[in-house]
Amino acid sequence: KDYTKDDIRNMVKSEHVEFLRLMFTDLLGSIKNVEVPVSQLEKLLDHKLMFDGSSIDGFVRIEESDMYLIPDLATWMVFPWGSEHGKVARLICEVYTSDGEPFAGDPRNNLIRVMNEMRSAGFTAFNIGPEPEFFLFKMDENGEPTLKLNDKGSYFDLAPMDLGENCRRDIVLEMEKMGFEVEAAHHEVAPGQHEIDFKYADALEAADNIQTFKLVVKTIARKYGLFATFMPKPLEGINGSGMHMNMSLSTADGNAFYDPDGELQLSQTAYYFLGGLLAHARAFTAVVNPIVNSYKRLVPGFEAPVYVAWSGSNRSPLVRVPSARGNSTRLELRQVDPAANPYLAIAAMLEAGLDGVRHEITPNDSVDRNIYSMNEAEREDNHISNLPDNLHNATKALQADPTMRDALGDHLYQSFVEAKKLEWASYRQSVTKWERDQYLEQY
Ligand code: GLN
Ligand code: MG
Ligand code: MG
Ligand code: MG
Repeated sequence: KDYTKDDIRNMVKSEHVEFLRLMFTDLLGSIKNVEVPVSQLEKLLDHKLMFDGSSIDGFVRIEESDMYLIPDLATWMVFPWGSEHGKVARLICEVYTSDGEPFAGDPRNNLIRVMNEMRSAGFTAFNIGPEPEFFLFKMDENGEPTLKLNDKGSYFDLAPMDLGENCRRDIVLEMEKMGFEVEAAHHEVAPGQHEIDFKYADALEAADNIQTFKLVVKTIARKYGLFATFMPKPLEGINGSGMHMNMSLSTADGNAFYDPDGELQLSQTAYYFLGGLLAHARAFTAVVNPIVNSYKRLVPGFEAPVYVAWSGSNRSPLVRVPSARGNSTRLELRQVDPAANPYLAIAAMLEAGLDGVRHEITPNDSVDRNIYSMNEAEREDNHISNLPDNLHNATKALQADPTMRDALGDHLYQSFVEAKKLEWASYRQSVTKWERDQYLEQY
């Protein structure tokens, strides 16, 4: 997919593309689009296309309101769903300042920076295989989402074909048309909940894929009169939605986590990387579980992690080692949820792991018992700490860890902390239904 400018020109013609959708991601993970007619193609290819970035979250520095969009030609993709006005193609862009420097507040630029650090450390790729989960809700007559689920299915259910099943198949087909390799798609544990796993890719492409995936899911769901949400815990009492991240490092020799002679056939690098992940897990929680609602998912009883531990066999811990070995050797971080900005989340995980490799951080012993049946004293004996239990504590943990500041870069780090403090302050002032149900009559 190393397209040249001429390739792009040719594909615009041969595919009858009329509009170019230029995509980038803001601080909070929302996809931003600037759509231009193909008449702007040459300007775009010449890196002369500007937009006003002053109203975008996390881009708020008035003096930098004029920004350039520099397209990554490798991300060229024609959307399979047409529009009345001709075909739409997208290009994911890097945001540059008017001085021609990569804008430090662009999460994608930041991931590119951290990946360059990784290459300096001798690795060729950070492979990421995500497992995003989401809910499909019915929409009302006005096209507004309701909280009505459209099925009563459960894990791997072969329910009689319903809207959800058809919709999920359609999503998979559209993804394949767009060049994704879908590895698995299944109903999840909760009613109305689905998971679609696609093939691993190097960090930047994986983050781009996650953003594109969300767009496809939301678009196709609407065609079925359904509303797709990646909110981590839309309903209490049933499982929330996670986005497990499978990860490994490569070198020129192949998978750097595999060693046929190592303990559990894992390499020393894998153990140090794991050590780094565990050492910084509390600090990167705010990044991979970034919203107030994320912490409603991270509670016992719903297959989401609560404690900092790893296991080679058990499914409940923060980090699991799936049984595949050889080139598929990997660590699975089960903490991440799909509200995370994938560029920031992947940068944080990579920096944490690389820090482990750099400082040879040895992880504690694996915990192969059920942590949820241990009491506090037993957890302490096994050196098992808790993840932060709300966004406020997570933000504090993030601020206490300079490695995570390095992972985000000063600009993004400061905007992120600021945004999360405001979010928490706003939440703290809300009076919830739970409180009224508990207290209104009691007091
Ligand atoms: N939905 C669960 C979570 O919140 C994961 C369930 C699973 O994939 N086994 O992480
Ligand atoms: Mg899965
Ligand atoms: Mg799952
Ligand atoms: Mg999983």
